Amino acid sequence: MEDLFGADSGGFGDFLGGIFNRGRGGGRTAQPRRGQDLESSLTLSFDDALDGVTVPLRLSTDAPCTSCHGTGARAGTVPRMCPTCGGSGQTSRNAGGFAFAEPCVTCRGRGLFVDDPCTSCHGSGRGLSSHTVQARIPAGVKNGAKIRLKGKGGKGERGGPNGDLLVDITVSAHPVFERKGDNIAVTVPVTFTEAALGGEISVPTPRGGSVKLKVPAGTANGRTMRVRGKGIRRKDATNGDLLVTLEVTVPQSLSSEAREALEAYAEQTADQDPRKDLFALAGEAPTGSES
Ligand SMILES: [Zn+2]
Ligand SMILES: [Zn+2]
Repeated sequence: MEDLFGADSGGFGDFLGGIFNRGRGGGRTAQPRRGQDLESSLTLSFDDALDGVTVPLRLSTDAPCTSCHGTGARAGTVPRMCPTCGGSGQTSRNAGGFAFAEPCVTCRGRGLFVDDPCTSCHGSGRGLSSHTVQARIPAGVKNGAKIRLKGKGGKGERGGPNGDLLVDITVSAHPVFERKGDNIAVTVPVTFTEAALGGEISVPTPRGGSVKLKVPAGTANGRTMRVRGKGIRRKDATNGDLLVTLEVTVPQSLSSEAREALEAYAEQTADQDPRKDLFALAGEAPTGSES
């Protein structure tokens, strides 16, 4: 009984207590009931997930039919005890000498039989109600997270607490930023001369805006630099960092002046062989320089 007419059955429990006179002194049905837990899903932008956001969520809940107050019987009539199962909601089937309990076919497990069904719910006793809750999504929520919002689920009955709302979170990918734990990663192109000579570059930050970043002379391709405090907000109100990975770009086309300048540079650096160590480690001298 308790399971069949769960937490959302409204005043139905009292009603049943009256019909079947279960001999529990009536105290049981008067107990407070916790509201049902509800589930919902939500897709957040990358930025909203960073700092948290309050989102109105429209929820549908299974509530007692308002026309019949959950009895399933037309107004002014009452259901009677199911004649097939005697109100238990179950019948037993004999299969190969074993008895199996099955939900009663006549009453579909409710234990009640309705002669004159409610026209609103067609005898099910169930209705849908929808309401909107303000769901506060905490800062730094991760893609795939399931958030439990206490007390935002179905309404409790007879003074019982509300159920919880479970929200499945999807965080949209950002075209530039990527989350790495409490940090946010971004790849920033730099020119060869910026990497070789050093300089100050502008780097975009999450939540809009930019920061200046000093690139030291002689910075290797792929080096990651840290901009403190521009990452995810943590629970202790500190922030993660922005991790900037520098990617040296190669020009796809050159003006003749730029080409000449590069050729002059190549002449000046002709004695530098970046593959010297490579061949040494490979245990073989490069072809043409065996002498
Ligand atoms: Zn039945
Ligand atoms: Zn109804």
